[in-house]
Amino acid sequence: GKVDIECDILVVGAGPGGYSAAFRAADLGMKAVIVERYSTLGGVCLNVGCIPSKALLHNAAVIDEVAHMATNGIKFGKPEVDIDALRGYKDQVINKLTGGLAGMAKMRKVEHVRGLGTFLDANHMEVQVTTGTGQERSGEKKVVKFAQAVIAAGSQAVKLPFIPNDPRIIDSTGALELKAVVKRMLIIGGGIIGLEMGTVYSTLGARLDVVELSDGLMQGADRDLVKVWQDWNKHRFDNIMLSSKTTSIVPKEDGVWVTFEGPNAPAEAQCYDLVLYSTGRSPNGKKVGAENAGVIVDERGFIVVDKQMRTNVPNIYAIGDLVGQPMLAHKAVHEAHVAAENAAGHKAYFDARVIPGVAYTDPEVAWVGLTEDQAKKDGIKITKGVFPWAASGRAIANGRTEGFTKLIFDAENGQLLGGAIVGPHAGDMIGEICLGIEMGADAVDIGKTIHPHPTMGESIGMAAEVAKGVCT
Ligand code: FAD
Repeated sequence: GKVDIECDILVVGAGPGGYSAAFRAADLGMKAVIVERYSTLGGVCLNVGCIPSKALLHNAAVIDEVAHMATNGIKFGKPEVDIDALRGYKDQVINKLTGGLAGMAKMRKVEHVRGLGTFLDANHMEVQVTTGTGQERSGEKKVVKFAQAVIAAGSQAVKLPFIPNDPRIIDSTGALELKAVVKRMLIIGGGIIGLEMGTVYSTLGARLDVVELSDGLMQGADRDLVKVWQDWNKHRFDNIMLSSKTTSIVPKEDGVWVTFEGPNAPAEAQCYDLVLYSTGRSPNGKKVGAENAGVIVDERGFIVVDKQMRTNVPNIYAIGDLVGQPMLAHKAVHEAHVAAENAAGHKAYFDARVIPGVAYTDPEVAWVGLTEDQAKKDGIKITKGVFPWAASGRAIANGRTEGFTKLIFDAENGQLLGGAIVGPHAGDMIGEICLGIEMGADAVDIGKTIHPHPTMGESIGMAAEVAKGVCT
């Protein structure tokens, strides 16, 4: 058949995984093409994920901080929120970054082919050309011939079948559109994405309810960290319904009426102005015609890969959200580099020991490696060092002493296995713990490293010092 474009490496999907793979491959001398249906590069993370959520969270955190300063004797008036301008700010942030990516692609001669890609076989992809900013199809088709390919088509929000279509019932993408300030909001699913968006809406004036099937919010993090976050954020919530679920959602004129089932759930239906469902994301592995290329996709839509990020078809790699948990941008980028380097003939492996997780709430909750709760469950003998921020000069000066820093060491040899931080900017600090784990650091290495004083980062050194039985 006809071939319109030929390349060494085709990448389908322009999220952090896709553009990182294409850029690395181009840097290693390959002619790279990215097939992406949207007009901008950046995928979920830049357009409707990590970045816009943080742009809004930053503003929310400043509003909260300013209110908190009343306790220090400084009072400001009630903030006047111009929601259109705030949305504009968020869009500006996105445009700056997607514009930057377009520039970097151009510099590397990475071609962006606009459209919806479907594999024809293991060396050809058909692209149904899209126009505008979105997915409107022009009717035109192009065929790209490639020597190697990287599948980086990402994931999308799961919409449970009983959730009706209504403009007041939204996923994270809808929440980031920030259409209006609301009074009562329900979050279905108490994970990071739901709680981050809830933080924004609550600071802008919404009362929150959250319903979560499991017995705790922010699953994955140790419960002692989550408790600190929860205590600090009590004022945002009317009702936190754990071990509970929604049983019906009925949009009516006066609001969305929801009924629940569970130990902490009210018996009567509740009325909300806005309902956010954030119950997880499902991989897009089944949406690229991977089977036409012979690539094995499991029934949930995940693509199976080896440590080189290679699928069962030797010239096709897969990376990012669609190869498995955790669905995080920094994991996608790391995998992208491994895939691109292998495609370019180098030997690379995904052998990272740990992948950090961060909730960019206020306070932030960050963790990496072995958690204390997991160690208990698995019967792993650990020594922990905890440094409460109430003992930190800097935290006291900042008026934010609620947090703590925790390190988890192997009880036998003192090697660092994990760590967690709750407090403002915890996410910015967790990287040191990641490095420590990757480098095989032990408590002495960290405890004897001179940290700048007075900083919150210092709490990591102090936590290592107090790990009893290791340093003393
Ligand atoms: P994606 O970013 O999902 O990109 C996939 C791209 O593929 C999309 O642009 C899509 O249009 C395109 N595509 C799919 N199929 C086709 C096709 N057939 N043809 C053409 N194009 C196609 N992670 C973090 O690490 N930190 C955070 O703070 C964070 N915050 C988040 C907040 C929210 C609200 C959400 C939803 C997610 C957040 N994430 C965060 C997760 C992060 O966005 C993802 O892990 C990351 O985007 C995954 O990257 P990816 O490259 O796998 O794919």
